[in-house]
Amino acid sequence: MPRSHRIVVAFAAAAVMLAPIAAQAQSIDNMYPTGNYHPSCYDGSLSHGHFCQTDNADLTVYMQGSLSAAAKSTVKSALSSYYSPTDLAVSVKSSGVYTGSSETDIIYQSGTLSDAYIGMTWCDDAVTGTKCDQHYIRFNKDYGINKSDACHETGHAVGLTHGDDASPRVSPNNTIVGCMTEIDTYYLGANNRAEINATY
Ligand SMILES: [Zn+2]
Repeated sequence: MPRSHRIVVAFAAAAVMLAPIAAQAQSIDNMYPTGNYHPSCYDGSLSHGHFCQTDNADLTVYMQGSLSAAAKSTVKSALSSYYSPTDLAVSVKSSGVYTGSSETDIIYQSGTLSDAYIGMTWCDDAVTGTKCDQHYIRFNKDYGINKSDACHETGHAVGLTHGDDASPRVSPNNTIVGCMTEIDTYYLGANNRAEINATY
């Protein structure tokens, strides 16, 4: 079952106003595998796949030509703002490596997705039961993306889950999971940062 999607929220502004601003001091485990989300990592596809952890702290990424210049810029900005300040060493490559033992860790692309989704992330090449050598992130060609969308899908590609897959489970829009909410949230957040730094 594809888990790594982002549901379109039609009235995001209203949802933001209604979202609870509680539980910020709480700490939860939302790094795959969690007590509530722990499928084995495998070589997946768009229709049958899910995200895992990336295989090490060197995070190489490539943006395919299907992405618009604006989308590429948004992804780069999200990486720079949210992920470079973690223990991950992020580098944007000018070409992608798709075979061998050192594949580009994240391949971003634009393409066809169900109308319900802004983006999906899946592991293409598992190396262990929890680690993946290469994740694909596909953004819906019918929508533009913002930095929160790029932060969210990239979060999946390094193992971050939604709030309702965390342990303990929290509401999908609990702000403790930062940009892993279903609403536009423009920060990674202390909990996600701590999870990444403890893992890589
Ligand atoms: Zn998601």
